[in-house]
Amino acid sequence: MADYYGIIDTHAHYDDEVFLKDLDTVLATQKANGIVGIIENSSDLPSSERSVAIAAKYDFVWAAVGVHPQEAERLPEGWLDRIAELAKSPKVVAIGEIGLDYYYPEPQKESELPIFEAQLALARDMNLPIQVHDRDAHGDVLELLKKYRPSGTVHRFSGSPEMAKEVVKIGMVLGMGGALTYKNAKKERAVVETVPLESIILETDCPYLAPQQYRGKISTSDMLPPVVDLIAELKGVTPEQVIEVTSATARRVFGLE
Ligand SMILES: [Zn+2]
Repeated sequence: MADYYGIIDTHAHYDDEVFLKDLDTVLATQKANGIVGIIENSSDLPSSERSVAIAAKYDFVWAAVGVHPQEAERLPEGWLDRIAELAKSPKVVAIGEIGLDYYYPEPQKESELPIFEAQLALARDMNLPIQVHDRDAHGDVLELLKKYRPSGTVHRFSGSPEMAKEVVKIGMVLGMGGALTYKNAKKERAVVETVPLESIILETDCPYLAPQQYRGKISTSDMLPPVVDLIAELKGVTPEQVIEVTSATARRVFGLE
């Protein structure tokens, strides 16, 4: 049995209501199972507040604050100032998750684009990395990433190997999680084969996207070992090396200490 100690889950939603009622136990279990770091991501203002509070309470949790594209039409006046204020909290390490989602017809892209761009500018001004959500919006996402040249990750990367190379060229990294293990994930696996291991970080997007063998369950960070094994197989390295390299990249990109 490989030892899976040392994984950093760079994209989680432990502020989801499925976890909140027993968060102490859920997070203690992650730690006991070898998870050494978690970056808690946000989707709107209330969830950004929750993420900051969770990061303040647990020593191995950091936070990203920001507004998800699905929330683009439900924002109160002054939302960007509030995100900027929350981003100054000591354990906030990124603006996220932010981006574009063209999978659902609503909100319209005309609503999503300015919200994404405002947060790209905020991250640049505050010198913070970002966590990008890109669903069926590869062209517009890549164009804006080239314009702002941020650091950070494109989370649950679902673009082509060609797009992956462009993102890596900007200096960003790619988040890989449960979706990589799905039967139809040929493109994701080709991406892992294409980019250097140093450009990949691990993530769950929990409570969503449980790896194939846990599909249908509420996912947690300690379900990442099958993802580690698959990346090891695709890159021809050991699981220990995958953990060592991805966690070092996560620490470097997000300045985790
Ligand atoms: Zn997410």
